[in-house]
This record gives sequence, structure tokens and C-alpha cells, in this order.
Amino acid sequence: MSTSLRFKVVEEAYDRKAVAVATPAERPSEYYGKQVFNRATMFRYLPKATYNALLDAIENKKPISRSLADSVAEGMKRWAVDNGARHYTHWFHPLTDGTAEKHDAFIEHDGKGGVMEEFSGKLLVQQEPDASSFPNGGIRNTFEARGYSAWDISSPAFILGETLCIPTIFISYTGESLDYKTPLLRALNAVDLAAAKVARFFDPDVRHVISYLGWEQEYFLVDEALYSARPDLVMTGRTLMGHESPKNQQLEDHYFGAIPSRVEAFMLDLEIECHRLGIPAKTRHNEVAPNQFELAPIFEETNLANDHNLLLMSLMAEVARRHNFRVLLHEKPFAGVNGSGKHNNWSLGTDRGKLLFAPGKTPEENLQFVTFVVNVMAAVHRHNGLLKASIMSATNAHRLGANEAPPAIISIFTGSQLAGVLDKIENSSMTDLMALSGKAEYSLGLAQIPGLMIDNTDRNRTSPFAFTGNRFEFRAVGSSANCASAMIALNAAVADQLNEFHEKVSARLDAGEALNEAIIAEVRALIRESKAIHFDGNGYSDEWQREAARRGLDCETCPPKIFDAYLRPETVAMFGRTGVFSEVELEARNEVKWEMYTKKIQIEARVLGDLAINHIIPVATRYQSVLVDNVVKLKTLFSGQKGAEIVGHDLDTIEKISRHMTVIKAKVEEMVAARKKANAITDEREKAIAYYNDVLAPMETIRYHIDKLELMVDNEMWPLPKYRELLFIR
Ligand code: ADP
Ligand code: MG
Repeated sequence: MSTSLRFKVVEEAYDRKAVAVATPAERPSEYYGKQVFNRATMFRYLPKATYNALLDAIENKKPISRSLADSVAEGMKRWAVDNGARHYTHWFHPLTDGTAEKHDAFIEHDGKGGVMEEFSGKLLVQQEPDASSFPNGGIRNTFEARGYSAWDISSPAFILGETLCIPTIFISYTGESLDYKTPLLRALNAVDLAAAKVARFFDPDVRHVISYLGWEQEYFLVDEALYSARPDLVMTGRTLMGHESPKNQQLEDHYFGAIPSRVEAFMLDLEIECHRLGIPAKTRHNEVAPNQFELAPIFEETNLANDHNLLLMSLMAEVARRHNFRVLLHEKPFAGVNGSGKHNNWSLGTDRGKLLFAPGKTPEENLQFVTFVVNVMAAVHRHNGLLKASIMSATNAHRLGANEAPPAIISIFTGSQLAGVLDKIENSSMTDLMALSGKAEYSLGLAQIPGLMIDNTDRNRTSPFAFTGNRFEFRAVGSSANCASAMIALNAAVADQLNEFHEKVSARLDAGEALNEAIIAEVRALIRESKAIHFDGNGYSDEWQREAARRGLDCETCPPKIFDAYLRPETVAMFGRTGVFSEVELEARNEVKWEMYTKKIQIEARVLGDLAINHIIPVATRYQSVLVDNVVKLKTLFSGQKGAEIVGHDLDTIEKISRHMTVIKAKVEEMVAARKKANAITDEREKAIAYYNDVLAPMETIRYHIDKLELMVDNEMWPLPKYRELLFIR
């Protein structure tokens, strides 16, 4: 028998050497942002008046005039062409995974039979992509397929390859958002207004509050030859079968191990690309699982940070190919080892340079710190179901709730120091607490917690939402997700909560209460109200599941039902008050979510069915028949009792293989029938629930039996690269 394809690709992968990276002669500080139309570049390419007017519009969130747009477009085009760009595109974030772009060349007729590079303000500011094929949940029917993309002036244009990319929002003809960026900008605006109002209780000179995001992107790398030999990876981004490798992450040797040279070359190349594009990539390291890694930048303003994350994800895919790797952003590409997340480190800071979740040195600063932290806790408590919905997807569902990632219940970890402070505020008398406004030394511990002392190393990895010293870390976000989804829900919920807080404190002030007294009274009320969300224990334990249910937290585990949180009256009201989503938008988006959920599982089920029937069963049959031949031959050599003994083991294996194959065939039929039945359901929510209830279970069983066969069938015959081959880069 010829050597299998698997053996060939494994050999190819193992023989591969690191690809040399052409490191720039300059230092990062010299090429950083070279491909970005940032302020320094604008200053060089724009007339002074244009430059000033554009900065004024960006900083004060003003609309820009057509003549200003024309002038900016002219400068932007000159810069882009000078730097090798030939095309431009509006770059936007539709409700699918990733980003969308449609390239147009800069050329226009020059009237003399030739062409010239041309780019007008009109083309910069607004376009009408033929966008009938983007998901819209029924908002835009395909016959009047008009979606508008409009320039987001708060995020700078950049050059990718030879294309000028202009970050844009994407909305329907009737003004509903069809993307992630539009509601994100609305939520950031809402939290700016609300948080600035509250921050002015402490510092009247605050004008704006900025939301910051520092994401940590986890990912797996797989050699491309091995990847290509796994149809499940190619089509679904995860392995639908594969027995655990005898060694995976038990020895915990990967996290602190040396980075393999092939991977290091990839990382270096990626970092250079990032830095040219102004993505402040800073940290890189191995993760817990073999072949798993992480990249984290320095945190940035949330809208920009999110653009950068989306850009990074596409860069990763491209750079990985140059190094003969494929990058896996799926939340759970391999069973039995850790999955990948994208921790969202999130904070709020004033335009006066104060981080609002960082304790300060004076009692006033610490009262401000506690005020903001407690409002976040209250918002997360009220909207815990929504926050879970914001991170839920068919792919992230594999990661959440398993014993290695945040549980599918949202709670907040504070650490013992912050817990102690909250406790004090809750249980001390108002007279004692009023001492806060007095001398720094006497303030019930509040003044005694300067930034350094909050225990940043107190790391409860089981918490989906943790306070980490000067920020919150939303850890339940999935590695393939658009961070905007989580950031929209979180910033909007916090904005709404802060508005209410501001109103209540103001009412007390109107009634003649002192400022600190009014704030402390409201903070204390919030601490009491939102106690249920605070949990510092082990989020993986069974007791927590029961306790969380008792506390009234959202414990739903079925993803399509988790999405219901978006349509609850309190959610619709919250998004309405903050101006982030209309009810029509929420309904349309949920249609898209349910549809996406169904489609992902549908594709997986089809791939698994095909692989089972035309890859696995034939190979198992072939091996079984080898055994049968062997038995027949042995029987001719040895007869009677001796013969029976000698073939006993083979007979046993033959029977076991038959049993596994029987179950696989039966379950594939069951799965196909379940799919057919579900497909007939017209309601998207009901259909998604049917997929969850009836299609996932047979998939699990099929996998189980295939994995058993993998251990029995001749290694040389097995068609798909095995975990032990996929998971260890040489
Ligand atoms: P970890 O120990 O959690 O893995 P990392 O250093 O890998 O920490 O990542 C922490 C991330 O948090 C980085 O992206 C960092 O820039 C970001 N970060 C730090 N401080 C803040 C803050 N105040 N607001 C938002 N993000 C922050
Ligand atoms: Mg972290």
C-alpha cells in the first residue's frame, strides 16, 4: 500500500524550516505608523486650515462640510499614491465575522484619452456599496439593496498592501445600523456624556470621558500542510474529530517554554506589520495549550482599539501564510486542550488624564474610584444576561462553561481589598463615612489604597469579569469575536447606569444634601442592590451554578435562548435611552444571530457527516477486512482450540470496529434527519433552538466513536492528521 497522504503532509510539516524575516534597518519608532494617515502625516499633506478644521471636527465630534472633505480627500490621495497605493476602499464591519471591503482604482479619465489619479471628497465621505449580500436581519430587502458606508473620522485611514482603507460605518437606506461600528460609536458617545457628568461631581473641568480597550488576542498556529489535510479545519475552523494526544498540556510546559523558531519568525513579521499600521503590539507569549499563543497591544481608545483588532486578525491570516502556517482564531479548535479567548481590558478615563477605575491618593479621588467601580458593578448586575449574550456565539459556546474558561454565568471578581472597601461603605455609619471628605489619614481605609496596593496579582482565572487594579477585564469574549459586540453592551449599560446615578445624586443635592453625603448614600444603595453579581470563588464549581441560580443571575446555557436577552424590555429600554439601538435594529440583529448560529452548526454537521461516511467508515472497513483476511489465514494454519485462541484478539477488534461503525452510521442518519426537520422551521429562533437540541447531540456521539476507531485502526491507514501531529510545531 502506498504511503498515505497523511504521512506525506506530516513529513512536509516536520521538515519545514523557519522563513527568514526581512527585518527593517530602522527601529520600530522610525517606521511605526508609516502606513497610517495619522496626525503627523495629515499635517504634512493637508493645508493648514484643512488640518485645523479636521482636528476640530474629530475632537469635538462635529460633522464635516463637503469642501473640507474635498480638501482632505486630495491630501489623503496624494499621501496614499506617494506610498504606493493604487486603490481605495471603504473598510467596514458587517455583521459577519471580520471586515468587508470593495476596492476601486484611483483612476479617472483625464479627457485626453488617458487617466489620472482622482479621489473626491464625495468618494471619501460616503459610498453605496452593492451590499445586498450582507446579513441584515430583514431590515433591507434585497430589491432595494442600498446600504451606505460613511467615513468614521475618528479612526485614521491606512494603507494595506496597495489599497487605501477608509474606516467607515455601514447603515441602511433608512438609517439603521448594519454593522458593529455604528452602535459602538453611539455607545462610546453615550458613556462619554454620562460618565463626564458624574466625573464633574469630582472635577468640574472634565469635558470628556474616554473608553479604553486593551484586548489580548489568543490564537493557535497549525502547519499549512497539516491544515489542508483536515477538511474540518478548512471549513469550520475547528477539528470535529481527533483523539486526544497522549501528551497535551498536562505538563504545563508550553506557557513558559521557548517559542519555536518558526513561530518566532512569524511573530516578528507580524509585529513589524502591526507597527507599520500603527497597531501598538507589545506583548507576545506562548499560551497554555501546545501551539497556542497570544498577542497584546498597548491599550487604546475603544473604537481605534477595535479597528486595530479586526485589522490584526486579517493581518495574522496573511502573515501566517507567508510562514506556511494557518492561524486558528476559533474559540475551541481542539477538544481536550484550552480554547482561545480575547480578554477585553476595559477602563474609562477623563480628558484630564485620570483613570476612573484606579484608586487615588486622596479621599476625594478614592470616592470617585469607588463611585465608578460600583456603577459598573450595578450595570453588569442589571444586564448580566445581556453581557453574556454579547459574547455568545456558536463558536464561543464550546469554550464557555467548559472547565477551563469562564463559566456561562456572568459575575464580577473584585479581589479581597476592593471587597473590603465595599464592605466598609455598606456597613459603616454615615457619620464615619463622611470623614472621607476630611483628613486623608482617617477615611476607613479608603484613602489608604493608593494604586499600587490594589492587588493586581490576585488573579482569579475562573471569573468572566474581573477587576484588575485599574481596569476591568471582560474575559468571556471569544477569540474570533468582534470586540465591539461586548463593548457596545458594556459601555451602553454603564452609560445608562451612570445617567441614573447622576439623576439620583442631583435630586439629593437639590434637596440640600452635601455632595459627598449624597454620593455615598447612592453608592451604598448600589452596593446593596448589586451584591449578587460579586463572586470571588471558583466559577467552575457546581456549587456556584446552584448559588448563581439562587442569586437570580442568568444561568441559561442554550445560545439561541441566551440571545433573547437582547429583546427583554429592560434591554430595549436601556438601548433606547442611550440611543444605541432602536427596537427594530435589535430585532434585526437577533435574526442575524440566530441565523448565524444555525448556519455554523449546519456546516459543521455536514462536514462531520461527510468525513464520517466517506473518510472514516471506508478506512475502518478496509482495516477490518485486513483483520478478517488475517483471521482466515491464521485459521488455515492453526486449527481447533489453538486456532481459536490465536485469532481471539483479532476477532474482538473486528467486532468492536463493527460496533463503532454501526453507531456512527446510525447517528449520521439521525443527525441528517434532525437537520431536515429543523430546516423546515421558518422561525429563525425556533430553528436555532432545534439545531442546539437535536443536531449537536448526535455530533458528539459520532465524534466519540470516530475517536475510538482512531485508536484501533492501523496508524498508516488513518487519513486525517492526528492531534499529536497537529499540535506540536517542530
Ligand atoms: P495579562 O497579565 O492580563 O495577560 P497583559 O499585559 O497580557 O496582561 O495584557 C493586559 C492588557 O491590558 C494590555 O493590552 C494592556 O495594554 C491593557 N491595559 C492595561 N491597563 C489598561 C487600562 N487601564 N485600560 C484598558 N486596558 C488596559
Ligand atoms: Mg489578561
